[in-house]
Formats: sequence, C-alpha cells, structure tokens
Amino acid sequence: MKVGICDPIASEGIEILKKEDFEVVDLSELPKEELPNHVTDLDAIIIRSATKVRKEIIDAGKNLKVIGRAGVGLDNVDVEYAKSKGIKVINTPGATSISVAELTIGLLLAVMRKIAYADREMRNGAWPKKKCKGIEMYGKTMGIIGIGRIGREVAKRAKAFGMNVIYYDIYHLDESTEKELEIEFRDLDALISEADVITLHVPLVPETKHLIDRERIAKMKDGAIIINAARGGIVDEDALYDALKSGKLYGAALDVYENEPLKESKLFELDNIVLTPHIGAQAEEGQTRAGIEVAKKIVKVLKS
Ligand code: NAD
Repeated sequence: MKVGICDPIASEGIEILKKEDFEVVDLSELPKEELPNHVTDLDAIIIRSATKVRKEIIDAGKNLKVIGRAGVGLDNVDVEYAKSKGIKVINTPGATSISVAELTIGLLLAVMRKIAYADREMRNGAWPKKKCKGIEMYGKTMGIIGIGRIGREVAKRAKAFGMNVIYYDIYHLDESTEKELEIEFRDLDALISEADVITLHVPLVPETKHLIDRERIAKMKDGAIIINAARGGIVDEDALYDALKSGKLYGAALDVYENEPLKESKLFELDNIVLTPHIGAQAEEGQTRAGIEVAKKIVKVLKS
C-alpha cells in the first residue's frame, strides 16, 4: 500500500504507517498544482489544511481508497465527489479540541488583561501601565454557543477560573452532563443578553453565518466580549468593528476570518481586539494526536 503525505503530519503518525509496511511518499514539499501528477498510484493521501482536494486530484487518484485529514474541518475536501468515486474521507475531530479550548481561554485573558496591547506598546518604548487596567474572569458569565467537543473543554476551563457558564446549542445536553459540567442551557436570545463573554464553537453552516450580527451585538450587555475561534463568517466582522470602535463591546478576539489569510483589515486599527492567524489547532500535542489518529484510521480502512 502506498500513502502520500501531502501536508506534514507528526512523525509518530508516519511511524504507524511504516510499521504496517506501507510505502510512505512525502509530497509535502511539492507545489500544490503538481499533486495530480503524483497521486495516480497512491492508495491513500493524508492532508491537513493546506492541500485542497478537489476534482482534479480525485480524478487523478485512480487507486485512491481513502483521504485522511489530520484535523477537523473538511472544507478543503470535495467530500461528496470523493464519495461518489467510492473514496472514503476520514478526519480526526477530537484530536485538537483541547488545543483550541486552551487558545480560547488564552484569547479571553489577552483581551481582559490587554496582554497583546501591553506587549505592543512596550516594544514601542512605552510603559502603558495606566491604560492596562483590565477585568477578571472570576465571577463573570460565559455564554458558550455550541457545546460540542471544544465547547465542553472551554466550559471546564472557564469553571476553573470561577466563571458562571451558560450555553446554547441546537441539542440540549442531558441533565447529568449539565450537572457534571455545572452549566445551564439558555435559548439564544437569553444567552446573548445575559453573557459577559460570548464564545463561539459551532460549525459554519447557513444557519450560523453571521449568527453574531449587528442586531444581536446590540442586544449584548454593554462592555461584553466576543471570542471566535470556530470559523470565520460566524461573526459579522463589519458589525464587530463598529461595536468595538463605539465602545459597545469591551473587546474581542478572533482566530478565524471571513477571508483567510487576512492581510488587510480595518480591525487592525483597534487596540481592543486580539487577532491570531487560525492557530487554534496549532499545538504540538494536538498535532501529534491528529497525526496518530489519522494514521490509525488510514491503516484500518486500507486493511479492511
Ligand atoms: P462539534 O461538532 O463537536 O460541536 C459543534 C456543536 O455545534 C455541536 O454541539 C452542534 O450541535 C452545535 N451546532 C451545530 N449547528 C448549530 C447551530 N446552528 N446552532 C447552535 N449550535 C449548533 O465541533 P467541535 O470539534 O467542537 O468544533 C467547533 C468549531 O471549532 C467548528 O467550527 C470547527 O471547525 C472549529 N475549529 C476551529 C479550529 C481552529 O483552528 N480555530 C480548530 C478546530 C476546530
């Protein structure tokens, strides 16, 4: 069996494939447009987010049985077309949940305590102590929208900081899970008006596009905070800009954007927003878990 590595994965994952005597072909250094010429005799390919698996690659991969994505989102794979050709598409949904949850808390602390702003100012020669009075997480209410794998990990961490946690999701958690996590359900409107911090952990689907729009921001508490480490487009960036500029919101943090990579934005003018370049899953441990999980799943498919 031949497995092509289109984007680098953890070496632990490669070892698993080699132990099965699979031939591992490193294609990660190739220009992406050349990939179709190199997949014809492969049984599987492994990707992360950089490689886009569209019709061209799928058609060229005459032997392909499985496409493995080390990570969660499958936006970069034409899943339906692959399936129509009998190719399985697998991913590693839980491997990086803790990485994303930790980044979410990091972003919240950075906003509340103005950490990124302070760092920027000091490097410019300032000592902005007076401008850096922040607020605490303790005692505030966090509203989690989307209580899936990542949302639950965020809830646990927020509780450890002494926050009250409420959530909204299309699925209600069962009572024992709510009790265990010490969180309460609210409908969306109630969550929006009650939370001091709103953090998003839903997928981007038509129903969640601009879920946080101008109207909903207006209904939030004055001085509230929005964190989006889920997908760009769930928060309306124009409405967010206006609310940050006017002081309606205390602050915000984004890890994901409507257009990535984000190279130019009026958001860059603002000091009360923290921006990171889609690094939620970029933690060593999460990547290792994803590499191992994708390799194990590829082995399972190829051996069946
Ligand atoms: P998950 O599927 O475990 O959880 C998503 C939750 O959203 C589910 O509980 C689901 O019921 C809920 N949901 C779906 N549609 C909804 C709607 N219309 N209204 C309310 N709730 C809805 O997913 P996850 O693994 O927790 O991932 C959550 C998000 O984080 C996804 O958008 C994912 O793409 C993103 N993510 C980002 C990064 C990053 O690098 N920043 C990394 C991994 C995942």
